[in-house]
Amino acid sequence: MPVKNISSLLGTLICTYGALTLYNYIRTKKKMKTRLEHINKYENQGYVIANSSQISNRYNSIPLNKPIDYRGKELVRPYMEQLEKALGNDIRLAKNNCAILQVKHSPEILKTGASGLYFGGENTSIIKYVNTNSSIIGHEVLHMASFMYDPTTKTSMHGFMQQKDKAIIATGLNEGYTELLNARLFNNGTVHSYKRLVRIVRLLEEFFPTPQTLSHYYFTCDLPACLQNLRQYCTNEELKEILYGLDKLYEYSYVPKSPAAISLEAKLAAKLYNIYARNFASQPDKVEAFKQKVCENKLAAVAIDNKKHTVQRTNPFKRIKTFFQNGFRKIKNFFVGNSQPTPQPAYSR
Ligand SMILES: [Zn+2]
Repeated sequence: MPVKNISSLLGTLICTYGALTLYNYIRTKKKMKTRLEHINKYENQGYVIANSSQISNRYNSIPLNKPIDYRGKELVRPYMEQLEKALGNDIRLAKNNCAILQVKHSPEILKTGASGLYFGGENTSIIKYVNTNSSIIGHEVLHMASFMYDPTTKTSMHGFMQQKDKAIIATGLNEGYTELLNARLFNNGTVHSYKRLVRIVRLLEEFFPTPQTLSHYYFTCDLPACLQNLRQYCTNEELKEILYGLDKLYEYSYVPKSPAAISLEAKLAAKLYNIYARNFASQPDKVEAFKQKVCENKLAAVAIDNKKHTVQRTNPFKRIKTFFQNGFRKIKNFFVGNSQPTPQPAYSR
């Protein structure tokens, strides 16, 4: 190929990469602005759309032990059996939603960047998946097991996430916790998606009396109780920073190798350490154990020590290579299928 053609091709590739990066950047910024607007809109209601009594009214109206016919959905049976053992009485939403569940192999959803989706509604319960890897099915089964629609307030609740009209609260918290449970319950502790979110939610879990407390709030869609527990330890402003920070991390999870995500994760981990150390100052052993968890993130360890820190950007040529490798992988997966878990996160809705 003549040199002129090679340089022309290279120029086109670089321009395409630049345009897509810019598009991603603008899209992410816009989405973050919207998420902050949603959080601000519900500030006077304590950052919740439906309150505790509305949630418990709806929850208690749902049958406790809906029978399930697994024909056409054998795929989810082992996950349900494991949940029945682990959840006790908190199995109510799982059984109710599983009773009407449809399971569909849908490779076309890869186009949306997802490898699994859960659609929940008043009389709707659908899991779509691109392959039967346990990291994908387990994640979506957990979305199903924690979904509730309240027709009175017209609010959809996915675990900790609440959604009404166009407003959505606590997506990051919900996705991080869903994947944390997915790793623990179905994947021998291995986290496959939303890794930054999972690391932060693991720290948040330490603020609850037991891991089962947070799990109970998740499977009963009790975001207000979850936030009320955190309010014992932090100010309203800090709570907002945590919720918004998790939502930002969620948006960054769709931007490969984002330096801003690395920095934000460290900032959030250091913030949680400061809150924890302030509240448990009389129990140094507890604070030290929390610090060890935070310091698994090296940048957070530096942030705790109040040293100036910077984020190393990856080599731009490596970023270009990764960008095209990811593009080719997606195209290949779309046409010939994927036997490996895709690094793209799975998400509800
Ligand atoms: Zn999800």
